[in-house]
Amino acid sequence: MNPSETARETLKRLSLQRTPPTPDNYRALYNEIAGTAITEDFPEKSLKALVGSLPRNTPEQLRFVRQIESAVSDKNWKSLNTALSDLLIKTAAEPPNWSALIRDLLTRLEARQADLTPARKREALDHVLAASAAPDLLHTRLQGLLKTWSQSAGQESSLAAGATAAAEDLAAVPPAPTLDAAAGHPPAAPAPTPAQTATRPADLTKGTSGELLDLLAQLLESAISTVLADNAELGTEAVRLAAAARAAINADSIAAFIADLKRFSYRLNFAVEDQAELKSGLLHLLHLIIDNINELVLDDQSLQGQIAVVLELVSQPLNLRRLDDVERRMKDVIYKQSALKKSLLDAKDQIKQMLASFIDRLADLSESTGDYHDKIERCADQISKAHDIADLSAVLGEVMRETRLIQLNAQRSRDELMQMRSRVGAAEREIERLQDELASASQMVRHDPLTGALNRKGMDDALDTEVGRTRRHHGKLCLALLDIDNFKKLNDTLGHAAGDAALVHLAKVVHEAIRPEDTLARYGGEEFVVILPDTPLEAAVGAMVRVQRELTRRFFLNNNEKVLITFSCGVAELGVDEEAMAAIQRADGAMYLAKRAGKNRVLAA
Ligand code: GH3
Ligand code: MG
Ligand code: MG
Repeated sequence: MNPSETARETLKRLSLQRTPPTPDNYRALYNEIAGTAITEDFPEKSLKALVGSLPRNTPEQLRFVRQIESAVSDKNWKSLNTALSDLLIKTAAEPPNWSALIRDLLTRLEARQADLTPARKREALDHVLAASAAPDLLHTRLQGLLKTWSQSAGQESSLAAGATAAAEDLAAVPPAPTLDAAAGHPPAAPAPTPAQTATRPADLTKGTSGELLDLLAQLLESAISTVLADNAELGTEAVRLAAAARAAINADSIAAFIADLKRFSYRLNFAVEDQAELKSGLLHLLHLIIDNINELVLDDQSLQGQIAVVLELVSQPLNLRRLDDVERRMKDVIYKQSALKKSLLDAKDQIKQMLASFIDRLADLSESTGDYHDKIERCADQISKAHDIADLSAVLGEVMRETRLIQLNAQRSRDELMQMRSRVGAAEREIERLQDELASASQMVRHDPLTGALNRKGMDDALDTEVGRTRRHHGKLCLALLDIDNFKKLNDTLGHAAGDAALVHLAKVVHEAIRPEDTLARYGGEEFVVILPDTPLEAAVGAMVRVQRELTRRFFLNNNEKVLITFSCGVAELGVDEEAMAAIQRADGAMYLAKRAGKNRVLAA
């Protein structure tokens, strides 16, 4: 049945069955008669409208909306599903118990404590309230605050049972630092109370006491005065105290030193609080700036990679190693981007210059046509006044000359303009290419610049995602580790540049031989990891053998000379509770065995 017959038959049956001829009924019956499957259109427009109305007030909401947006524009039901599942998993987490927390806070706030006045507590509370915008963060910090208050109360009750002198001494104890808790850190271990330190020298033998004083002096001189680098006055005081500790030889001088130390530690507490506050304030500011930049450069891809990496860095507790790693990778990208930006500016300048000369040319042209008109008018005047043929032919000669001149001029301008147009086109294409390159340079923070494979950081992120997905779906995931055979020899015989080109070639071949859902990462110098999701061990070994064959088929060409590159590979399937790195270690073990067994082979772990 051809389509028009099917259509006729559909209408006939609709009327026979007395079914209302709505578009849905028509389509269903048409498909039934034609025997075709009912394909549902992806409701992109409606979904886009829906996404447009979602709130984007917090970074989390924004991230979620972006995830949904990209799934909708890819028309990808699976990604949409993943985004919604992730959201549900997040919201299913236990909600913070606010009522219990508020009850505890009120009780503690009112409770009498010798070392913490209600005013002091309220001050700390105000600080936490002002510094924590996100509800989850606020909850954690308030809990931290409560904990320090309770600890301080605990100290009080155990000490209250002791001598009155100790209790009196306690009244002079500086308040325990609360800002540590406010900055989201576990509260610092409580400092020894003066009641404890004041009795210590009497209990100690002379030798131990001397040692302790020396240690204190060292601590004050090196560690503490360094920490106080931006507080000159306290720093000098620390150095002075260190000297006093060394000079303390009898009970009196020790007592004087302890009194000074007490005052110092009181002031030190405030300095540390200030530093913690400064750090959390700076981090907060950084967050704000990054969020804002992220909003501003939404359409400009050239910063997205860097922003993602910095955002991730500051959303976790700061760690010097990670900071250093990010800085190093960022430097490469910034170097590359500044070179690209220079070329981009040059290309834009070129277009500006061409536009300027175009306008000059246009002005010349209109000037010369203006001259022409004047001359022709004068000629017309002469023609009307001409008495004989001789007069006329002289004027005509002039008309012809002028016309030819203007024709030539116009022709030249036209040629020049055509040339300029093609140059502007080329410059525009160059600008587009540079802009693309700028964007991919930003992504380089996650990619290895030589081979384009993911770098270690990129691999860690990919592993997080893939392992998470595998666990959710109870699927199987394999990790393959491959190491080029005799690569040192290749470098030694053909040179380091050829070695680099060989790495690029290998990455290209591997990338093209694996499935799109598999991921290639450069693990180290000439070692690569392939992440194979949804793949049992046997299939993963098969896939890597296929890659190996592909590599022996596609030679690496060095100065038109064929060079055969092979690799040895170990493959491990991720265990149910196994960490990804542990599986990579097992793959590494199998790879080592493959080397021992004669190289150029794939072994399962
Ligand atoms: P095996 O078959 O046992 O793996 O031997 P091999 O020579 O491949 O292994 P070895 O680990 O001794 O040498 C690896 C070499 O890879 C050493 C290093 O110079 C080279 N290499 C590492 N990274 C790069 C790179 O980025 N470019 C170049 N050209 N060479 C690299
Ligand atoms: Mg190696
Ligand atoms: Mg090797």
